[in-house]
Amino acid sequence: MLKKKQFKAESKKLLDLMINSIYTNKEIFLRELISNASDAIDKLYYESLTNKSIKVKKKDLEIRLIPDKDNRTLTIVDNGIGMNEEELENNLGTIAKSGSLLFKEKMSDDKNMAIIGQFGVGFYSSFMVSDEVEVISKAYDSDKAYRWVSRGADGYSIEECDYENIGTKVILHLKENNEDNNYDEYLEDYALERLVKKYSDYIAYPIKMKVETTTKKDDKEEKTIEDKTLNSMVPIWKKQKSSVEDEDYNSFYTDKFYDYEAPLKVIRSEVEGRCSYTALLFIPSHAPYNYYSKDYEKGLELYSKGVLIMDKCADLLPDYFSFVKGIVDSEDISLNISRETLQENYQIKSIAKSLESKIKKELEKMLKNDRENYEKFFKDFGMQLKVGIYESYGMAKEILQDLLLFYSSKEKKMVTLSEYVSKMSDDDKIIYYACGETIDKIDLLPQVEAAKEKGIDILYLTDYLDEFVFKVMMNYKEKNFVNVASEEADFESDEEKEELKKTNEEYKDMFTKMHDALNNGVNEVAFTHRLKNHPVCLTSKGAVSVEMQKVMDAMPTDTGVKASTVMEINEDHPIATKLKSLYEKKDYETLEKYSKILYAEARLIEGMTLDNPTEISNLISELLAK
Ligand code: ADP
Repeated sequence: MLKKKQFKAESKKLLDLMINSIYTNKEIFLRELISNASDAIDKLYYESLTNKSIKVKKKDLEIRLIPDKDNRTLTIVDNGIGMNEEELENNLGTIAKSGSLLFKEKMSDDKNMAIIGQFGVGFYSSFMVSDEVEVISKAYDSDKAYRWVSRGADGYSIEECDYENIGTKVILHLKENNEDNNYDEYLEDYALERLVKKYSDYIAYPIKMKVETTTKKDDKEEKTIEDKTLNSMVPIWKKQKSSVEDEDYNSFYTDKFYDYEAPLKVIRSEVEGRCSYTALLFIPSHAPYNYYSKDYEKGLELYSKGVLIMDKCADLLPDYFSFVKGIVDSEDISLNISRETLQENYQIKSIAKSLESKIKKELEKMLKNDRENYEKFFKDFGMQLKVGIYESYGMAKEILQDLLLFYSSKEKKMVTLSEYVSKMSDDDKIIYYACGETIDKIDLLPQVEAAKEKGIDILYLTDYLDEFVFKVMMNYKEKNFVNVASEEADFESDEEKEELKKTNEEYKDMFTKMHDALNNGVNEVAFTHRLKNHPVCLTSKGAVSVEMQKVMDAMPTDTGVKASTVMEINEDHPIATKLKSLYEKKDYETLEKYSKILYAEARLIEGMTLDNPTEISNLISELLAK
């Protein structure tokens, strides 16, 4: 009985979208169908490992392409697991429903295997080149075969049919040629061969096609038709290095990891030893959109002898290198290994260790020889390296510190800590830094200007985590990190300091009055000589800087940690004279107003907000009007 059915409503729209826009490149339909065929064979094979009633000979498993010029059809046949009526309905009647994904989820952990499909859209790409698609299929555990037919958006029908073999046959009735497209091409041997090579070369099962060859025998041309295997089946990482072009790695990467951009770096490594393995790793040229969210899952594909056993083996990568994508293939890891035993597996640990040092070496190499690309890398993934140092409480410092880059005020570009230190004399013991939202904003900070005046090179920290990272690292090559906006950063001679101390002592009472006017906004008020032109700034005392305070304030939980801050007023600025005279005239009311305005200024310079903007605005207008 023939059942005519509509696609599920949402499927219709999706199908249109699919045919017309998702894939700009029509030829990939073949890749999708071959991947499905390969998945189907994988499934049968895996099923046979536990279900002894299924007899599968590995050497018989194959995918076959049959172009038929007379009927203008291209047929893709597999002897995989097949689909029963319900599966045809569910898997092909609903777009974006992936039977493969369900299958994967159904499988227990220890059989996390080589299934390629999981998005449930690949099959529909066949409508990009076909007017009508027929799928004939017989499930491995059934003796009935079914035929599914569809001409696209208007629906599909399913009926019982005769088909001897187990597996699936997809028959594409190609569209008529038009000005823009020559669909006949998909009937040509050479074109099909090219497409298989391009997209499906490392499919583990032979993709066969009957081809005509001409041989000369006694001056007579003899035509024979024979089977040809179109794919090399050897995965790209097992191929001779000399036979693989950069282009091949790039397209392997973009296809496999769904990236639209070629990777920044390809790392291929073969290690022989107690645990031998081949790794093909990629450093992406940009962070995936969800990289810095908890949705991102790190991990490498783990193969054993070319068969995928786990598609995201997290244990192979430390968190700070979680951006690395790629595959690891090891003869020494058993196929039936479960996820729990994987974690304890010493082979995995030893591979992970060796990969870590390999990745580090490659990054160092890029930093040294290909600075431009390294900076590009650092822009997207530098944060992850910093998180690595911070979250390990500095334990990963040795591994990661030389991969960090910071903007140098003197060099006016990104430098490594080692480059910064190399310009220091042995007597210099301090690496100076300043924090702010952007380089331009930091450049304008009063304390920065003063330090630059003294010829000091300052690292500008623009990531919110940067200063925390320095705190955790404590030092680099025995040079301590000091924030120019902290008390520790003093560039004055002992006499100068002594003199300032005296003045501050003298005006102690005035500072108390000012401090009280600020409602505990700061811990102290004092004069300073470190500011050249600026009237006022905030500096910090102790471990927590003003900048760190800002970050902690932005956190959802109250950390209870407070920076101990000093409002410093430039004693050489006319404002200092004004304050002194107000104090001496005992005009404490005006002194209080001035204090509030100066404090507001200092906060604004630090990029902080005001709690009392109206009060400040009124005060300014009042004083301006005088
Ligand atoms: P995906 O492969 O991403 O899951 P598809 O749209 O390509 O999505 O296929 C949908 C589903 O149809 C697959 O998940 C699979 O269950 C089933 N399917 C497709 N092709 C075959 C095939 N040749 N043999 C068996 N099942 C298939």
